[in-house]
Amino acid sequence: MNILIVGAGIGGLTLAYWLKQYGHTPTVVEKAPDIRTAGYMIDFAGSGWDVANRMGIIPHLQAKSLPISQLVYVDNQGHTTARLSMERLLQAANTRDRYLALNRRDLVITLYEAIQHDVPVHFATSISDVCQSDSKVAVRFSPSGEEQDFDIVVGADGIHSNVRRLAFGIEAEYARYLGYYVAVFPAPAQPDIIEPGYVLHLTPNCQFGVLAVDPDQWLIYVVFKHDDEGHIPPESRLALLTSQLHQHGWLVSKVLDGLPPDTPIFMDTVTQIEMPVWSTNRVALIGDAAHCLTLISGQGAAMAMAGAYFLAEALHDAAEYRTAFDRYEARLRPHIERAQAKARRFAPNFIPSTDLRVALTTWAVRLMDIAPVAKLVGKQFSVESLLT
Ligand SMILES: Cc1cc2nc3c(=O)[nH]c(=O)nc-3n(C[C@H](O)[C@H](O)[C@H](O)COP(=O)(O)OP(=O)(O)OC[C@H]3O[C@@H](n4cnc5c(N)ncnc54)[C@H](O)[C@@H]3O)c2cc1C
Repeated sequence: MNILIVGAGIGGLTLAYWLKQYGHTPTVVEKAPDIRTAGYMIDFAGSGWDVANRMGIIPHLQAKSLPISQLVYVDNQGHTTARLSMERLLQAANTRDRYLALNRRDLVITLYEAIQHDVPVHFATSISDVCQSDSKVAVRFSPSGEEQDFDIVVGADGIHSNVRRLAFGIEAEYARYLGYYVAVFPAPAQPDIIEPGYVLHLTPNCQFGVLAVDPDQWLIYVVFKHDDEGHIPPESRLALLTSQLHQHGWLVSKVLDGLPPDTPIFMDTVTQIEMPVWSTNRVALIGDAAHCLTLISGQGAAMAMAGAYFLAEALHDAAEYRTAFDRYEARLRPHIERAQAKARRFAPNFIPSTDLRVALTTWAVRLMDIAPVAKLVGKQFSVESLLT
């Protein structure tokens, strides 16, 4: 089949790879002028690991994995309050041999390298219209205005999916705000003030993370509780961060004070996408476009890859695309619904909201040195693979 994939992110590139393997003719369009390399660290395990393994790219990903041996918790004055060994956590989660800490950038680039010579990827391109009939789906590309027919169209264009808007309706119908904003940005490294690795600073309603593995540049990750203001334009992001975080102590001030004003800041709401169905006639959705799980579940990349894999396999096995769409959804939906229900319950306490809760969280991290506690916490982090 002639298949259009909208979005060259984690799900879209994985789907392009598997469709090509099965003998289809995929084409990818991506709104950005190049592969989007923004983003932070992704815990890569479970289904994501298994799909990557079947693609033969695990050695490439291993070569790029981040050397994080422990999480270091610091307080307002910069004193270390707790340490959490990754080895212990992964052992407790039973995923030690099948886990990578990856920059989102490295995962996307590796996926792109796996398809770039076999699948056309048109950058700076999106679609402005989708018109379905019994035998085809006609698409108008933007900005060119050109039209082309495909057998099916797959929206892999992330949480704010344009394909979903065109084929299923506006985002507000499917979006459930979970109460937080997330921001990710690079900052000049200040190696004299913290030790290398992954440093976390918790204050009420705010988690501030510094990924300090590059001697020149840190990657900062902030999650903070905030009313839903929708999309924050790039030029307003630094001001919002500064106003939200200025009372959050030593490390935050050091980072924000040293930040060049033109720093590119990725910022978005923490919002689940909850849809009753992921396909309509010849259009299907995968990944965040269909079921954004958010950082609270920590499985967005893995589930985007699993969904892409299941959809390609179903299109290969089923005689007809409608049956394939139904099979893909039947296989993935129960897991997504469980993960989303869990995230809804957990969201209010995702970041401790008072000084007392921050202190209790720090104590809980310290208790991870005790084996039965580690086992209990590890269970929460363990992710089963959906691939058998
Ligand atoms: C810039 C960025 C940074 C992120 N940072 C993190 C992070 O630090 N940690 C984390 O766990 N998750 C992060 N995520 C989300 C995470 O990557 C996803 O949850 C997960 O990978 C799901 O993958 P996906 O393929 O469904 O969507 P994504 O990986 O979000 O990919 C969607 C792709 O579609 C493209 N696109 C969007 N709109 C259109 C359009 N109208 N036309 C064509 N293409 C379009 C986007 O540019 C993007 O390349 C980030 C996502 C993005 C886009």
